[in-house]
Amino acid sequence: MRWAPAIVALWAMPALSQDVSENDMAAAMAFAVNNSTLILYHEMGHLFVGELGLPVLGKNEDAADSLAAVLLLDENADWSDAVLRDSAEGWYLSPFNGDSVPGDWAFMDEHSLDKQRAFFFVCMMVGNNQEYYGELATEYGMDADRQEKCKYIYQQAHDSWTQLLDPHALSDENLASGEIEVVYDDPGEFAEYAEALMADSFLEYAAGVVTENYAIPRNLTFRAMQCGVSNAYYNPGDAQITFCYEYTKHLADLYLSAFATGSGGGGEYTGDESTDETESNQ
Ligand SMILES: [Zn+2]
Repeated sequence: MRWAPAIVALWAMPALSQDVSENDMAAAMAFAVNNSTLILYHEMGHLFVGELGLPVLGKNEDAADSLAAVLLLDENADWSDAVLRDSAEGWYLSPFNGDSVPGDWAFMDEHSLDKQRAFFFVCMMVGNNQEYYGELATEYGMDADRQEKCKYIYQQAHDSWTQLLDPHALSDENLASGEIEVVYDDPGEFAEYAEALMADSFLEYAAGVVTENYAIPRNLTFRAMQCGVSNAYYNPGDAQITFCYEYTKHLADLYLSAFATGSGGGGEYTGDESTDETESNQ
């Protein structure tokens, strides 16, 4: 559920050039909002499990990623397509992949390594629609055989979640007894990131996905706030998903360090990491 925020902050803050162009900043912000959306859907995965009492086989974190992918692919819209593509790239660009981190702390975390997560989301995309996502999967080094296997992986994830969530669908016999309050706390120095999230109806849309479709048993809060660290989490004790503005800034910085003109980045993937890294994830 929780990331490793302090270490993220130490590692991923790039040395940005002084003059980030407006175009670069706009692209970085779009990338950051898209990646933030996927993180929020991941936390919604934890929330569904916690609030509806769903069983989870395997790692909680993989289950949350799996539900995030299923929900976003079900949206089947331009925005959800962009969220998934940018997020796969975000995981790919992340420095937390074991090979680039001193020590092996990354292996102790319950999350799969970030590069594995990139391949997982690409696998879900191509498993959902080979015709549309085949080219992307090939860019990530997935051969035809692997892409074919992803069909099964996606289908199984989709069917499992549908089966688990269906009994909780809203109906005349199954009414919600809770609502979701959406709160954007004072962003302080993170105002531009908060504005980008609000302009995207970041929390509102996600809250609607829950309340318009499922009978949640109690009142919940989706809150964006300053946390002092780059983090996002669902806490059943607070009946809340917390999303830290710092996380969106971190994601924008990640983009700028990789792609902004003159920032000395160059994190574009080459696709040569191949498919082995997905094995342990599937
Ligand atoms: Zn999590």
